[in-house]
Amino acid sequence: MLLRYLFPLCLAFSSLAVFAAKAEEAPTVYNHATVLMYHHISTNTPPSTSTSPSDFIKHLDLLKKDGFQVWPLERVIQHLKRRRPMPDKVAVITFDDGYISVYEEALPILKDRELPFAIFVNADLVNANHPLYMNWAQLKEAQQAGGIIANHTLSHAYLIRKLENENDTDWLERVRHEIEGNQQELIKNLGNVPKIFAYPYGEYTPEIQKLVQQMGYVAFGQQSGAANPYTGLFALPRYAANGTSANPSSLRTKLHALPFPLVNEQPASTVLDGKNRRPTLTLTLSPGDYLIKQFRCYGPDAQLLKLSSKTLADGNLEITINSDKDIHIGRPRYNCTAPHAKENRYFWFTRQWLMPYADGSWYDF
Ligand SMILES: [Zn+2]
Repeated sequence: MLLRYLFPLCLAFSSLAVFAAKAEEAPTVYNHATVLMYHHISTNTPPSTSTSPSDFIKHLDLLKKDGFQVWPLERVIQHLKRRRPMPDKVAVITFDDGYISVYEEALPILKDRELPFAIFVNADLVNANHPLYMNWAQLKEAQQAGGIIANHTLSHAYLIRKLENENDTDWLERVRHEIEGNQQELIKNLGNVPKIFAYPYGEYTPEIQKLVQQMGYVAFGQQSGAANPYTGLFALPRYAANGTSANPSSLRTKLHALPFPLVNEQPASTVLDGKNRRPTLTLTLSPGDYLIKQFRCYGPDAQLLKLSSKTLADGNLEITINSDKDIHIGRPRYNCTAPHAKENRYFWFTRQWLMPYADGSWYDF
């Protein structure tokens, strides 16, 4: 009789032992998702912001073949907010600006495959009834097909640019109106919509991030990388999947890339003054599975950037990154990668700078 009771107990202990041994190996916990950003799905629109319908289908096929789950954007945000682990391969499909080609080309494909997606729209552009953009009825149809319609400002404004004679208070009040006014339009025309925001042109400052946070939004930029909680929820990265980034094989590398365990990035602001065309970026990384000896950063002309690094007292690594040539006006990027020590994939981080002309005036794109 005693044996009958002891036996399962022994089993229980032995399985505990196995569990303990496994725990010592520290299984990888993933807390990132790959958020893809599209604009037009068409062959008749500007190539730099377009993905052909055939490439779009190739991307969806690739997601399926490589075992990705396509999640609704809100579900990913809930996980990021609570820092809950996610499966390794989670992807999200997003479209910026609400172009008509998304309705005509992408929506039937997404409906057919029963995939969720999100569209960031500007109510002023919808209300103008321009044929290039979806109207409210079409957006409603997209919403009913499983799409999230979210906020991209009223007018697709350059939020970081102050108007002539505008003080900081008036500027931030205008930014608030761009977001709040758009949200009210979305609610009026589409019913309840989540508080998710995408910065037009991926442009933001720490002040705007703070405002967005105070207003209760989670926000996305346009710098590359897997969305992760390391750097806060007010400028989450996305991978462009249009223009030159629509190529399915280069997209595959990005789909599988992991976020670096980033503790800090300096400067906090991505906005430059236009005088120093060789900005310094400093990243602080906690230890991880990245091969630091193969850590590389490339500038906007694919030039290799200069690196120096030191281990800090807390065991974190501080890497300083510099360009030895001037980078261009506009939105130049530093892209940093390192191979994974055990798996055939990369870690990835991108800093998108906002570089005005030397006199402080802004580019016109
Ligand atoms: Zn946009």
